[in-house]
Amino acid sequence: MAFTLPELPWAKDALAPHISAETLDFHYGKHHQAYVTNLNKLVEGKPEADKTLEQIILASEGGVFNNAAQIWNHTFYWRSMKPGGGGKPTGKLLELVTRDFGSADTLLQQLGEAAKTQFGSGWAWLVEEGGKLKVTKTSNADLPMKHGQKALLTCDVWEHAYYIDYRNARPSYVDAYLQHLVNWDFAAKNLG
Ligand code: MN
Repeated sequence: MAFTLPELPWAKDALAPHISAETLDFHYGKHHQAYVTNLNKLVEGKPEADKTLEQIILASEGGVFNNAAQIWNHTFYWRSMKPGGGGKPTGKLLELVTRDFGSADTLLQQLGEAAKTQFGSGWAWLVEEGGKLKVTKTSNADLPMKHGQKALLTCDVWEHAYYIDYRNARPSYVDAYLQHLVNWDFAAKNLG
């Protein structure tokens, strides 16, 4: 069964002005779609074609891994944002954040720092590992499940995520993500 491009969880103009519909036309409509198209071509007629995306990600390397992981990463990234997001975690997630980071402000600072300092293309993450929350960053298509970690939230820092709206100013994009878009309810739902 062929892989398909999942629906966005909100309208394409819903994140404006922080992320424009034009960015999403390219980022979702072209980049995310291309990973789906490429993976389907790579696995056509092969045993992987009948596996789940997660099974392929855990078992593959090279082009198959890159395209499969990027499909998963982008689907997860769209859900890590919502119109009117931002603020701070609440409830159980806030308890765990306070336990493991000291405060929500420290988590925001660490997540922002990871996103701003990832060298080249990649992702910043809030993950759960061994019962503890931590902030990590990965390069290119790499992702937490490949390292025994459970992803709770992500920020895409490939240039295609921000170049139309922010040009080279990645820090401004990261600040907008944290202040206006980040979806803490989604992160809380991903807790094990
Ligand atoms: Mn991307």
